[in-house]
Amino acid sequence: MNIEKPKSGSLIRSTNPATGQVLRQFEADSRQQVEQKLQRASESFRSYRSCDFSERAELLGRASVLLEADKMEFARTMTLEMGKPLRAAIQEVEKCALACRYYAQNAARFLTDEEVPIEQGRSFIRYEPIGAVLAVMPWNFPFWQVFRFAAPALMAGNVGLLKHASNVPQCAVAIEDVFRRAGFPEGAFQTLLIGSGEVSGVIADPRVSAVTLTGSVGAGSSVAAIAGKQIKKTVLELGGSDPFIVMPSANLESATATAVQARTINNGQSCIAAKRFIVHRKVAEQFERRFVERMSKLKVGDPMDESTDIGPLATMDVLDTLEEQVDRTVKLGARMLLGGKRLERAGYFFAPTVLSNIPPNSPAHQEELFGPVASLFRVDSIEEALALANDTSFGLGSCAWTNDQRERELFIDHIQAGLAFINGMVASDPRLPFGGVKQSGYGRELSYHGIREFVNIKTVVIQESGEKQQATE
Ligand code: NAP
Repeated sequence: MNIEKPKSGSLIRSTNPATGQVLRQFEADSRQQVEQKLQRASESFRSYRSCDFSERAELLGRASVLLEADKMEFARTMTLEMGKPLRAAIQEVEKCALACRYYAQNAARFLTDEEVPIEQGRSFIRYEPIGAVLAVMPWNFPFWQVFRFAAPALMAGNVGLLKHASNVPQCAVAIEDVFRRAGFPEGAFQTLLIGSGEVSGVIADPRVSAVTLTGSVGAGSSVAAIAGKQIKKTVLELGGSDPFIVMPSANLESATATAVQARTINNGQSCIAAKRFIVHRKVAEQFERRFVERMSKLKVGDPMDESTDIGPLATMDVLDTLEEQVDRTVKLGARMLLGGKRLERAGYFFAPTVLSNIPPNSPAHQEELFGPVASLFRVDSIEEALALANDTSFGLGSCAWTNDQRERELFIDHIQAGLAFINGMVASDPRLPFGGVKQSGYGRELSYHGIREFVNIKTVVIQESGEKQQATE
């Protein structure tokens, strides 16, 4: 193991973004503790890989029951620690329980041996676990991001190591506890309380087989470079600047209502939040008027309050970055139709904001805006909408609102994205593959694709002795 900074004695803080007050502090894992966890993961894998699917399914089923039973407590932890509205946090825990049930019920089918007829004898494909998978995870969906990696990884027979974002240590510890209480063997799922500086040492460790990272492009690029050097597989789920295209045939009322929800979900901090609203000129004025009106009515405030629509941003850094991006976009010539600044109160609140006339070289055009800030664009055709939608380094989600068959087909064929929705908001579903193209990353989570990312696809060929061998590779 080559962990540069032992960090023994350093603290990982849990801060309430609605007040700025520190809730709890955790001592970061020492070098020795990380070493012990890696060793435990490696030992656990040796026996856990031989559990059959029904045993693993029973354990994961128990995890889903625990999630449902304690969902209020988990939801409160999330809301206090990163500021998402409580009702959204409850739904997030429920979705984690659903993903556990989905993989418990379907993993055996997804990973069963596949017979392939060949002339030389019998052949089949076996999917087998690869070992300890390190998950480097973000704070924005602190439960969901972890469970959508952990449920398939554990069902495949791998063991998990979680390095969660440094601002959500309470969530990280609570998730480890769910798996422990569900009865998973010691070492099957462990949280590493470490900073991002220690990740490279963990990746380089021979007891770690692969890495999955959800987070920013910078983090993804750095982790993939280290893993690449070690020839270890990675899955990257990175940022997005999703387009939301509205054409004249759309149901404008429904499109506008969904647009507001799609932009402000999770206080605007979702990789698949719609960020650029690309509207046909024929309906642009109507759309803008309705959109601004709805955005102005959103209630910003205490995320623990059931009636709150938008809580605080997760950290002071997120707030500073967003404010700087909005300022720069406006300085470059954008029009501010609503909001535009942080709120003068305790905590990290930013006003719901709408920008139009976005200059091509501005942050609102080029970068991911992580907060309740919408950028409006006008176009004259579906072709122009698609060109603008694709004019970004990202390619995660996308949606188009149209009832015109030709426009739908053009959108499906030409949008550069991992997810393409028509007349609906982009959302993840355990049954559907999730992931992006371009700088939004590679690999897929969820569905049968997700569970096959971290398995050895072993080709087995059984020939009767004495049969003639082929000389080619
Ligand atoms: P982040 O700053 O990249 O952090 C994500 C995780 O990576 C954290 O655990 C962080 O640890 C770690 N990390 C950061 N830099 C690292 C480095 N150089 N080496 C190793 N680890 C590193 O992202 P975030 O601010 O938490 O999350 C927001 C981003 O995630 C947005 O861009 C969003 O779009 C993206 N996201 C993508 C998806 C998707 O499915 N595509 C889903 C959710 C979020 P520390 O906290 O200790 O720094």
